[in-house]
Amino acid sequence: MQEWNDQFDLLVKSRTPLILIRSREEERVEELVIESTNRSSHIRLATWDYVEGLRGILNSEGIGARQPMTVLQWLRKVDSSLPTILFAKDFHRFTEDAGIARMLKILCSEFRKTPHTILLCAYDWVPSSDLDDSLTILDLPLPQENELKILLSNIANASDSNLTKETLEDLTHACSGLSEMRVRQVAAKALAQRGKLSKADLEEVLEEKRQAVARSDVLEYFETAASPSDIGGLDALKVWLNQRHAAFSDEARQFGLPLPRGVLLIGPQGTGKSLTAKAIAHSWSMPLLRLDIGRLFAGLVGASEAKARETIQYAESMAPCILWIDEIDKGFGGDARSDGGTSQRVLANLLTWMAEKRSAVFVVATANGIDRMPGELLRKGRFDEIFLLDLPTLQERFKILELHLKQRRPNLDLPLETVASRTEGFSGAELEQTVIEAMHHAFSERRELLETDLILASTQLIPLSKTAKEQLDFLKDWASSGRARPASLRIN
Ligand code: ATP
Repeated sequence: MQEWNDQFDLLVKSRTPLILIRSREEERVEELVIESTNRSSHIRLATWDYVEGLRGILNSEGIGARQPMTVLQWLRKVDSSLPTILFAKDFHRFTEDAGIARMLKILCSEFRKTPHTILLCAYDWVPSSDLDDSLTILDLPLPQENELKILLSNIANASDSNLTKETLEDLTHACSGLSEMRVRQVAAKALAQRGKLSKADLEEVLEEKRQAVARSDVLEYFETAASPSDIGGLDALKVWLNQRHAAFSDEARQFGLPLPRGVLLIGPQGTGKSLTAKAIAHSWSMPLLRLDIGRLFAGLVGASEAKARETIQYAESMAPCILWIDEIDKGFGGDARSDGGTSQRVLANLLTWMAEKRSAVFVVATANGIDRMPGELLRKGRFDEIFLLDLPTLQERFKILELHLKQRRPNLDLPLETVASRTEGFSGAELEQTVIEAMHHAFSERRELLETDLILASTQLIPLSKTAKEQLDFLKDWASSGRARPASLRIN
């Protein structure tokens, strides 16, 4: 927090008239501001809220209760020999009022000469564009490791819980990404249930995080049992993923390897992109968080940026984890003119985070094509690698048919060579569909499945590659120029 404290002190010292602290943690903000005013003996802190009015200044208590304009007028008259920070709670709600907005602008210009500062605290408020210029925004990160450690040890001491150094470290690590309030709630629950803090609380903390994700509009916590052995083919991708998994270890850090950033999977529908995202999470034993891009951009203008920030915070709090950005091309391929540049800004934030992140969040982005994909995403170095998931080769088709047959009729052994050779152009999903169709046919006659059922079913399905051939050729052309690696080891 040292860095944040320094930034805040500097803003106050340099006479910043209007500061917005972006955070949901109003109480924590207040504590930090109190600490800051304690550090500089000559600055006074006044707080204001709509119900109680002004507090913290002798002889002015209660001024401006239910009258937001009155408190601004009060601050305007405060002598410049008494530098004052006014922490005006919920004040952003009143800025729609033309009088308040004008007064804020007047004060912003006057406070360049007088040393007062107005402090606002809100998380997803989007300031109007004319106020935007007067505001300085400071993001408050969630509690850092040392803060959490102090918080947890204080709670443990107060409740006579004898935490070993190791348990304290584990709990601190598990709580990373939770707000102070949530940590207190988890601790209160643990104390009510067991009378002390202990290792047994780790599971509760994880559950708290899962619930935080569940409350989020745009993230979905995905339980999955898929594993790489459920994927037929894509062997080059599997080898690469194994290498990257190893790079998450402490040994890899000591070796000097950076944490893996992520992978972009491009390919036609049904070629196993989602299946791969799920299999990575399951086989790496990491939680899978799916980002719903549609919901990210739905709702109020400006809200998307707050949602994107929140998504990143949640993902970091769950690290190590997989952040699966499904259909990334659909989300960011919009026209900047039609959404006021929102998708461009969100994309820029996401890219900056990906470039700078030091947490173990592995991003798996999936896309059907590149025609709507912003160029920035395809540039080398954004993802660790870009893979093209093409339609399966003959061997892969054989493997996929075999897998789906074994999943449903484990004891049945059918020759699959003919079906595999007659299903050129089928995607993995279409091969699965072929097996299911054939089974319907056999079941309707109450008999065992035969090779001929599979052959018949394959003739009745028109694969997407027939209808979307042009798009697929374009994608392959693009990839063959070295911009993406084939996910399959191509033998034929
Ligand atoms: P979309 O672009 O439409 O989202 P996708 O590439 O993500 O498609 P998946 O959802 O992964 O495709 O595939 C759908 C289903 O098809 C999978 O759940 C799986 O049952 C089957 N499938 C696809 N590819 C393979 C494969 N290589 N091996 C085994 N099954 C596969």
